[in-house]
Amino acid sequence: MFNVSKIRVDFPILNRKVNGQPLVYLDNAATSQTPKQVIDAIVDYYSNYNANIHRGVHTLSQEATEKYEQARIKIQKHLNAAKPQEIIFTSGTTHSINLVASGFSFLLKKGDELIVSALEHHSNIVPWQMLCERTGAILKVIPMNEEGELLMDAYYTLLSDKTKLVFCNHVSNALGTVNPIKKIIDAAHKVGAAVLIDGAQAAPHIKADVQALDVDFYTVSAHKLCGPTGVGMLYGKEAWLNKLPPYQGGGEMIAEVTFEKTTYAELPHKFEAGTPNICGGIAFGVALDYMNAIGFDTIAVYEQELLDYATEQLLAIDGLRIYGPAKNKTSVISFNIAGIHPYDMGSILDKLGVAVRTGHHCAQPIMDFYKIPGTVRASFCFYNTKEEVDVLVAGVKRAISMLL
Ligand code: PMP
Repeated sequence: MFNVSKIRVDFPILNRKVNGQPLVYLDNAATSQTPKQVIDAIVDYYSNYNANIHRGVHTLSQEATEKYEQARIKIQKHLNAAKPQEIIFTSGTTHSINLVASGFSFLLKKGDELIVSALEHHSNIVPWQMLCERTGAILKVIPMNEEGELLMDAYYTLLSDKTKLVFCNHVSNALGTVNPIKKIIDAAHKVGAAVLIDGAQAAPHIKADVQALDVDFYTVSAHKLCGPTGVGMLYGKEAWLNKLPPYQGGGEMIAEVTFEKTTYAELPHKFEAGTPNICGGIAFGVALDYMNAIGFDTIAVYEQELLDYATEQLLAIDGLRIYGPAKNKTSVISFNIAGIHPYDMGSILDKLGVAVRTGHHCAQPIMDFYKIPGTVRASFCFYNTKEEVDVLVAGVKRAISMLL
């Protein structure tokens, strides 16, 4: 049985006060909080077996290597990847996307086409624009509608034998839209294009099955799902990862080095130059264990309840508009109140202990589409409660009374 009070005990930060008020943390889409199981794993690593991995004969190095490689296998199983070497540790989604974009710069030629969705985070736009500048490839955009959904018919007409790569997020961080990624992947494959799905926002809510999706690349940042910052992963189909050249050169990613010629290590090491975030990788695995012990189905049901409750309460407020779809979304509410700048709303909520995000959420094209400078975004995690939603709603009403 899901018991939110019991869950909250695992998160020490939820006990703190902000501006003299109990913290109501509703900025989970930016980063989630960390349970003590993950904090303990970090302390354990630095207290007991901090060592560099892969090349040590000594016990500490072997222990660290074993735990790090176990974490890779946990991630592999979590995403149902066929092989552990298809999981590349990175510093997060941004790094993962840049790795793939860098590799494709050797595979593209002038006039090749790439397709991006209108709902992307800047980290799934800018690396591809840089790639287009380097290669002469052309970037095309799948448009969106007022409900924050992609126009799939327009997508199908963009596809052609010139399309080499399609990239799209699984879930929009700005609106919460769950995109029809299976349809996107299948249609791209029909014209021979590869697909990268940015799973940064989906990962805390949806357990993706990369084999069932038949996706070519999938990215995750650990800090969105109760893990530490600065670590994440890239899933890539083995055939694709073998085809892409290494992203960075250095230690760990080589087979043999001479001044005449260097040969590269096998997967996954080919893409893991230098000393990685060893502790972070291990803690990422512990975070997945933690979330899987609660269960992603259980989390989804509870978060939907919170989302429905918060949506109803907020929509009852005069002049409040929620951006994005009414259904098929994760627990994210992006809203504005007519006549109030999101920054002013966010600042007053902070005074009341409520942490929300304000601004363009690294998705300026979405804000341009709605012709707004930004939104107030409340995003919920499984440790949030209906009482916290009540505090948010009361805070929004109070801010309106002060600002209008
Ligand atoms: N894509 C999406 C949809 C995101 O929400 C984020 C994080 N806000 C990123 C990419 C970038 O992730 P990171 O900063 O962890 O690299």
